[in-house]
Amino acid sequence: NTTVDNYFVDAALLAGRLPQRARFSHKGTFGHALLLAGSYGKLGAAVLAAQACLRGGVGLLTIRTPGVGYTILQTAVPEAMALPDPASDFVTELPELHPYAAVGMGPGLGQEESTAEVLRLLLQQVGSRRALVLDADALNLLGTHRELLQKLPPNTLLTPHPKEFERLVGEPALDDYHRLDQLRAFCREHRCYCVLKGAYTALGTPDGPVYFNSTGNPGMATGGSGDVLTGLLLALRADQRLSPLDAALLGVYAHGRAGDLAAAESGEPGLIAGDLVRFIGPALRELE
Ligand code: AMP
Ligand code: MG
Repeated sequence: NTTVDNYFVDAALLAGRLPQRARFSHKGTFGHALLLAGSYGKLGAAVLAAQACLRGGVGLLTIRTPGVGYTILQTAVPEAMALPDPASDFVTELPELHPYAAVGMGPGLGQEESTAEVLRLLLQQVGSRRALVLDADALNLLGTHRELLQKLPPNTLLTPHPKEFERLVGEPALDDYHRLDQLRAFCREHRCYCVLKGAYTALGTPDGPVYFNSTGNPGMATGGSGDVLTGLLLALRADQRLSPLDAALLGVYAHGRAGDLAAAESGEPGLIAGDLVRFIGPALRELE
C-alpha cells in the first residue's frame, strides 16, 4: 500500500460537523449511554467520565459502578442514574443492554478476572448497531485476554495512551513512526477507530487515514484527563446524528480545546481534569 492519507484536525476541518439541536428534540434524540467504570479507590475516574458524558450532551446516562460507588455517584453526579453492581469493590456483572444506544467501559475498573468476564459478555452482546467505547482497564484486559480482540465489533472506538496501546498490540514500538504503522495496521485488522493519545493525539480509522489533533497542551498530562475524554466520546457516540468518524474527531478536538481554555484560566500546572469537564460546553459551542 503506497498511499498514506493523513489529516490535520483543526476548526476548519470540523466546520459544520456538529449538528445543532432542533427545537423539538428530546432526551431520546441524543441517546441513552451506559458507562461501566470505577473500582474501590478509583471511583473518581467514573465521576469524571460521567460528568464529561453529560457535558458532552448525552440524553440520558446510566452508570454501572461497583456497589461501593453508589452513594459517591449519586452525590457527585445527580444528573445520572446509578445501577450498582452486586459486588462491592469491582464490576462483576453486565447489565441488560437493551436500553442503551452506546456503551463505554474502562476508566478506573481494575483488572479483576470477573471484570474481564464482563468485557467478554459485553463484546458478545453489544451487537453491531450499538456504539462501543473502550478505554483504560478495558484495554488492558484486551491485552491480557487477547482472544477478545477478535470479538471487537466493527466501529469500536478505543482510546489508549501509548502504554495501553503497547499492551493492546502486544509489542513495543521501535519509535513514533513505527507506532503509527502499528496504529494503521491495528485499525485495519479490527475495523476499529483508535485514538492514540498524547501530544498531537492520532486517530486511526478502519480504512487507513490517520487524523492528527491540533488542540491540547501539557497541562492535560494530569490524572483523570483521559477519563474525561472517554465520557465525552461516549456522549458523542450515543448521538444518533453523528457518524463514528465525526464523533471521534469532534470529541478529541473538543477535549483538547477544553484543555486550552482551562489552561488559559488556571495555567498549565494548575489544570486538573475537573477543569476539562467545565470547559467541554464552551469548547463544543465554538464548533456549532
Ligand atoms: P490518560 O493518560 O488516559 O489520562 O489521557 C491523557 C489525556 O491528556 C489524553 O487525552 C492526552 O491526549 C492528553 N494529554 C496528555 N499529555 C498531553 C500533552 N503534552 N499535550 C496534549 N495533550 C496531552
Ligand atoms: Mg487513562
